[in-house]
Amino acid sequence: PTIDLSTGAFTGVEALLRWRHPQRGVVQPDDFIPALESSGLIVPVGAWVLHEACRQGAAWHRQGYRFAVSVNVSARQVDQDRIVDDVRDALSISGLDPELLILELTETTLMHDVEGTLARLQLLKAVGVRIAIDDFGTGYSSLAYLRQFPIDVLKIDRSFVSGIADTTESAALVRTLVQLGKVLGLETIAEGIETDDQRLRLKAEAVDTGQGFLFARPLEVGDVNRLLDSSAGKPEVSVN
Ligand code: MN
Repeated sequence: PTIDLSTGAFTGVEALLRWRHPQRGVVQPDDFIPALESSGLIVPVGAWVLHEACRQGAAWHRQGYRFAVSVNVSARQVDQDRIVDDVRDALSISGLDPELLILELTETTLMHDVEGTLARLQLLKAVGVRIAIDDFGTGYSSLAYLRQFPIDVLKIDRSFVSGIADTTESAALVRTLVQLGKVLGLETIAEGIETDDQRLRLKAEAVDTGQGFLFARPLEVGDVNRLLDSSAGKPEVSVN
């Protein structure tokens, strides 16, 4: 879940992958994503993730909950033109409102093939989806690409969040990243919030929304449904 740091309202979810292996049990993404990447299987699996996330997002929307669904997209996917068709298909088959889909790309992914990625992102923006930079501040952090690419959301990397209560440097960096986001008209999301102290400091820096163990561990769909049901009435879920 992604939570509004001011109101505590539920604002969205990020799709996370787990592999339920018959012998090994639940396999964490760090243990299988690299194999998907190197084999190229990340492309069909990534398309399946897009379809599943859009299908679930549309189901929540039909239940009266309107919030964004974020999907991580890898360089191998963005390097191919089919990403545009995969996103279009996932949206049209599910019926999900395009503005409720956020595609998360890392800085490294953006810089992999700048021209091709820019062209595909512009096609995706024309479809109506939103684009987020994941783990912002850990890659190239090129100011030129922030202006060049059609970006809507900055996700401030957990490494800045974890130090915000302890070092003035981390706090100053978060402040700078947030101001950068504001100047460019971007929404900011803080990743990896674990303590209420961190939440309060991020809120004081005017970070819009956050994710992390303070709010919820990674949840199954059923757990998200229970969380939604337990919020007073229909929660004030918003698009942000
Ligand atoms: Mn992400």
